[in-house]
Amino acid sequence: MRRSTHAPLLEVFTSIQGEGLFVGQPQDFLRLAGCPLRCDWCDTRGSWGLPPRAPSADESVSGADLRTAAWITPLDAAARVQRLAGELHDRRRPLSITGGEPLIWPDFIAALLPLLGERPVHLETAGAHPAALATLVDRLAHVSLDLKLPADLAPPITTELGTGPEAPPADAESWSAARLACLELLAGRPACAKLPVAAGRQAADFEELLLDLEASAPQLPLFIQPVNGIGGNGERLRGPRPELLMELAERGEELGLTVRVVPQIHPVIGLD
Ligand code: SF4
Repeated sequence: MRRSTHAPLLEVFTSIQGEGLFVGQPQDFLRLAGCPLRCDWCDTRGSWGLPPRAPSADESVSGADLRTAAWITPLDAAARVQRLAGELHDRRRPLSITGGEPLIWPDFIAALLPLLGERPVHLETAGAHPAALATLVDRLAHVSLDLKLPADLAPPITTELGTGPEAPPADAESWSAARLACLELLAGRPACAKLPVAAGRQAADFEELLLDLEASAPQLPLFIQPVNGIGGNGERLRGPRPELLMELAERGEELGLTVRVVPQIHPVIGLD
């Protein structure tokens, strides 16, 4: 598998964190392209694909425009983040690295982190790449980990450049292993877990995920997140039953977890 410190940058921008522990906080974002997963309700399908070619090791491509991915070096990415910070606000604002799935680019992120100075760096991940997470977790100020329901996922895409150095889980068993490994890595660290809940599910569907959280990282705050915004095809998604959200919240509390039910706020405040 090819490994590179280049990664396809989609955009660097400032916005409001729309979900998880830091919901509502102004943050800067660095969005990388590429995701081998296929969540049914993905609202960032524009991040799945990759630019047509990868540069050679000594080639720097720095022409990324908003929503047009281009291969970029960590140095170029750090300069873009720095420019954003210089233009808009002080440099202590957290930077969230998001995607796509940023953990398919662990070497890029590892090389980028030391270039960002004192800025706290958050990572948003689907939790499919524990080996990549292990290489980065010590240097992150916060990790937001999705607890994915395998039934919400179509089989992953496994093209050479689309998976990164670590193959993503392809069935419920390998998802279980990846989930447990990620939770064990995050136990005792600054992190939170997010549980996306789509319409049509039952509380029993989520039992294994809740038990894994209780067993491996019970101190992580759990954000139950109804999937009810605008879908990847522009369609309005029907949210889950409120009774289901209540049932999941009560089950989480029964397990001793710290639970909040918080939808994504971007549709509410009118941001993408
Ligand atoms: S992991 Fe994220 S980017 Fe990838 S398909 Fe799922 S929601 Fe979309």
